[in-house]
Amino acid sequence: MSTGKINVSVENIFPLIKKFLYSDHEIFLRELVSNATDATLKLKHLTGIGEAKVEYGNPFIEVKIDKEGKKLHIIDQGLGMTADEVEKYINQVAFSGAEEFLEKYKDSAKDTGIIGHFGLGFYSAFMVAEKVEIITKSFKDEPAAHWTCDGSPEFTLVPHDKTTRGTEIILHIAEDSTEFLEEHRIGDLLRKYNKFMPIPIKFGTRKEALPKPEDAGEDYKTEFVDVDNIINNPEPAWTKQPTDLTDEDYQSFYRELYPMQFEDPLFHIHLNVDYPFNLTGILYFPKMSQEVQMQKDKIQLYQNQVFVTDNVEGIVPEFLGMLRGVIDSPDIPLNVSRSYLQADGNVKKISNYITRKVSDKLKALFNENRTDFEQKWNDIKIVLEYGMLTEPKFYEKAGDFVLYPTIEDKFYTLSELKESVKDIQTDKNGKLVVLYTSNKEQQHSYIDIAKEKGYQVVVLDSPIVSHLIQKLEADNENLTFARVDADHIDKLIQKEDSTLSKLSDEEKEQLKGVIENFVPKANYTVQIEAMDSNSTPFILTQPEFMRRMKEMSQTGGGGMMGFGNFPEM
Ligand code: ADP
Ligand code: MG
Repeated sequence: MSTGKINVSVENIFPLIKKFLYSDHEIFLRELVSNATDATLKLKHLTGIGEAKVEYGNPFIEVKIDKEGKKLHIIDQGLGMTADEVEKYINQVAFSGAEEFLEKYKDSAKDTGIIGHFGLGFYSAFMVAEKVEIITKSFKDEPAAHWTCDGSPEFTLVPHDKTTRGTEIILHIAEDSTEFLEEHRIGDLLRKYNKFMPIPIKFGTRKEALPKPEDAGEDYKTEFVDVDNIINNPEPAWTKQPTDLTDEDYQSFYRELYPMQFEDPLFHIHLNVDYPFNLTGILYFPKMSQEVQMQKDKIQLYQNQVFVTDNVEGIVPEFLGMLRGVIDSPDIPLNVSRSYLQADGNVKKISNYITRKVSDKLKALFNENRTDFEQKWNDIKIVLEYGMLTEPKFYEKAGDFVLYPTIEDKFYTLSELKESVKDIQTDKNGKLVVLYTSNKEQQHSYIDIAKEKGYQVVVLDSPIVSHLIQKLEADNENLTFARVDADHIDKLIQKEDSTLSKLSDEEKEQLKGVIENFVPKANYTVQIEAMDSNSTPFILTQPEFMRRMKEMSQTGGGGMMGFGNFPEM
């Protein structure tokens, strides 16, 4: 037997990193801008605690395309590196200077928002570049360094005459990656991944109109000047305290997130937790249509203000997938597979937290302004009903705010609904019967009939309603749902004294007498009911045995028909 150490040679690993490190080549830019951001945030921290005795100033990051030279530049004014540090941080693959920094400064640095993690991001540059240069000048009083590498494990490191603090990364874009020399491609990438990063990012210039001078004449032409084109908003709303934000701030942030959305969201939920995991974000409830559509504008996941993905499966409970907004967490293991994500305890906790926050918010909205909540009901019900079906933790809370609108636009909670039907809608087993319609238009005649009998009819018309009903019935022993056009109505046991007529008893008797003159008394009973209805001012009832006999003579069988006790009139 022998033991030993597997010999990993860099020559073999390098092409693998290049090819498989990230499935998406475009993320190299995200990684390099993240490093530039980290370098700037580190300097901010070090000047803040007095360890770097330099002026922090107003640093920004610049991304520049040199189309002729086939080069892409990423330039920062961060803390820079000495030659020794280049050796240490760049030449050691998989050694993360970001982790080292966080380790060294521990508590004081935990809120710096530093992004780096695995010590691999820098090498993603070789996915698109055939040669990479680093020109860097540390904030420390040491000469600048110039590192060059063509993607083989050999590099050169020589002094450089750069005098300004910070780092410039130069990518010599490879033949197969020239798309990354296109202005629109780089612009799109910056807007996708870096739109909310914490240090301003300059990409070219844009024209800005000068304000019109007060003495401008009739023929004044607007003048334009070139200004730096800053592509990001370094302080997005979710990084602020809810108390510092107005409703208008939330609305305008929504439009910043989804520039093509013209409809305002119904309401928002600001997420903010730092124990046992770190997470911030804002979720918006958009107006939801009846059909559950595939959505283009989805919830976006960020890590320290860097866009990661809009596939939040597993992190956000499925039923909230229809919401919009952002979630930012440094604690979600982002570079790992989806199956791992689902098994990760932290991720499950995050999902539960979001569920709880959403139900708390819904409950608060309901309690604070019930009328307003009722008005929004039709736009949010599909999400909530779906949540009741799929998320047990949500279902537990749903009784507090999930509504059952009646045909007359009264909105009941389930317990209110039970209360309201308990005297008039029970079946022979004493179960409460909730009559519902799944389609007001199609079932209107049945609805009218039920109304005349004084029954409540609730409108349950989401596509998932049959599942919801099953669940509610399973969980409420004493409750059953019956569609208004099924044969349930005549099985309901109505209390004797429940009558809707506007007529006095005396008037009813008179009217009854009049009608009885026209119909054969032996075959039909006359009932004066529901005089406020337009469709059925009175009802003739055929005694059950008469009806059965008639049916048998017609069909040869004894089948009961829904509403069979209403004769054709
Ligand atoms: P990570 O960011 O996960 O630490 P990277 O491979 O992206 O790993 O970068 C390795 C290290 O190189 C960083 O941690 C940092 O110390 C150093 N570095 C990379 N880019 C810069 C930069 N623009 N300015 C200063 N240091 C940098
Ligand atoms: Mg990095």
